[in-house]
Amino acid sequence: YSTLRLILGDQLNAQHSWFKQDTKNVLYVIAELRQETDYAPHHIQKICGFFAAMEQFAHALSKAGFNVLHLTLDDTQHDADLPRLLTRLCQEYQCQQIEYQQPDEYRLAKQLRQHDFSPINTRCVDSEHFMLPFTDIAKYFKKDKHVTMEHFYRKMRKRFDILMDNDQPLGGQWNYDADNRAKLKKTDLAAIPAPLLFDTDVSAIAARLARHQVNTIGKLTAPFIWPVTRSQARQLLAYFCQYLLPNFGRFQDAMTANSQHSWSLYHSRLSFAMNCKMLHPQQVMQAAMDAYHHSNGLINLAQVEGFVRQILGWREYVRGVYWMNMPDYKTYNTLGAKRDLPSYFWHGQTKMNCLKHAIKQSLETAYAHHIQRLMVTGNFCLLTAINPDQVDDWYLGIYIDAIEWVELPNTRGMTQFADHGIVATKPYSASGNYINKMSDYCSGCHYQVKEKTSENACPLNSLYWHFMVEHRERLAKNPRIGMVYRNWDKQSSDLQQATLARAKWCLTHIEQL
Ligand code: FAD
Ligand code: SF4
Repeated sequence: YSTLRLILGDQLNAQHSWFKQDTKNVLYVIAELRQETDYAPHHIQKICGFFAAMEQFAHALSKAGFNVLHLTLDDTQHDADLPRLLTRLCQEYQCQQIEYQQPDEYRLAKQLRQHDFSPINTRCVDSEHFMLPFTDIAKYFKKDKHVTMEHFYRKMRKRFDILMDNDQPLGGQWNYDADNRAKLKKTDLAAIPAPLLFDTDVSAIAARLARHQVNTIGKLTAPFIWPVTRSQARQLLAYFCQYLLPNFGRFQDAMTANSQHSWSLYHSRLSFAMNCKMLHPQQVMQAAMDAYHHSNGLINLAQVEGFVRQILGWREYVRGVYWMNMPDYKTYNTLGAKRDLPSYFWHGQTKMNCLKHAIKQSLETAYAHHIQRLMVTGNFCLLTAINPDQVDDWYLGIYIDAIEWVELPNTRGMTQFADHGIVATKPYSASGNYINKMSDYCSGCHYQVKEKTSENACPLNSLYWHFMVEHRERLAKNPRIGMVYRNWDKQSSDLQQATLARAKWCLTHIEQL
């Protein structure tokens, strides 16, 4: 073979122009590697999902006539890392050139760029996955500068002509958030559709992980429920458009403990399929827009706009922030947070009902929806000043869709406000009141959400004020936060003291909460 083409585990894009060429002299390589299983402790479902999808992709490519080498951990156990594996294979197969798609993770991009492969030539091409070509990122983002997501999103809507009516937003509004984000009432619970689950056999992969003593977290359910082929990914997309999209925006921020389907609700669960590139974002948005246009009014514009905003807006936005700000971004700790992550993040045994649900569900399914990640676990880590390195590692390991380019700006930026405001202009800090408004967790909790200072008071209430007081100097400058401090100043000094004392107790006894 003259050329070796590397396909990383998150580059399973059958639509890539590579596969539209005559490539008789090309060897495609897809390899399971210890460097990928070990850079953070991953959820077992995450590794099984990636490895199964890689195997299926290799299989599909060879069926289509391409020369494919699929290597398992057994085959690569003596290869110290990716560059050395590639060098060995080039020797074995006499390849003079290595080609790879631009990796989405800085870690891998740097590793491949910096390694000296000579005399073998290397060539990097676009992954052809995102809406924004890699080389256009710098036109929209600047290092260390906040770019408002809403502005970026509007530019993307115009550039790609998505949900537009000539140069105006379809329906006359850019944003339908005000119509969305309802709480689930008791009467809504029975109508929540069951999620579409698959049943792939991943026992051989699990046995391989055990044989190689790969350290994992979480549980492996049998059968394996996540999509691992393009056909399964398309089924999940079609299922979403038919059953979940009609209420997607409406219940996007809602949480409940009282439904069999509490963990999935109206969310698409498409992040894994998109992040390993089995689905293209354009294809996902097009399916949602087609469903909207053909729904005879069953799906309203607010639902589909809410969904498009997540993909064309947030997903492309965090990628831009990541690439403009790496590698420094990974070191930011603006608020100087340094407490250790409490042990219940690894088993879920805490008396805080909201946290217990989010963590247990994450360990069981390798999934939590956005508000659980942002306003339950994320908010708790923010208020208790957990070291952002530990917060990152937890998020990066536990979720099936976690890849650093998308995890890092969400965690360090959006939830921990550790990036001096590159992503968010103010912290997403909240007391128990927010959780109580958006969920039914509080009624089943050991703690009292309406109390602030008693022994049974919801810890988030005092922790919230403690956080706001501690960072007053930095935050009070923000006009959107002024009101919060005026409310604090109105409270009696006794109440203020008691609130801060309760917060200090919670911080000192964080393991017992
Ligand atoms: P849906 O609710 O159905 O949303 C549709 C799609 O929109 C998602 O599949 C996703 O591709 C995209 N999307 C929505 N919100 C975001 C966002 N904030 N950033 C980027 N894309 C978004 N998403 C990941 O894909 N990988 C991660 O590692 C990840 N880590 C996160 C960590 C934290 C602390 C937070 C607050 C969010 C994180 N997210 C991450 C974003 C979001 O929570 C997930 O994309 C979403 O929960 C995936 O579930 P879903 O496919 O059902 O999403
Ligand atoms: Fe969470 Fe507080 Fe509500 Fe308990 S009372 S579920 S800790 S917000």
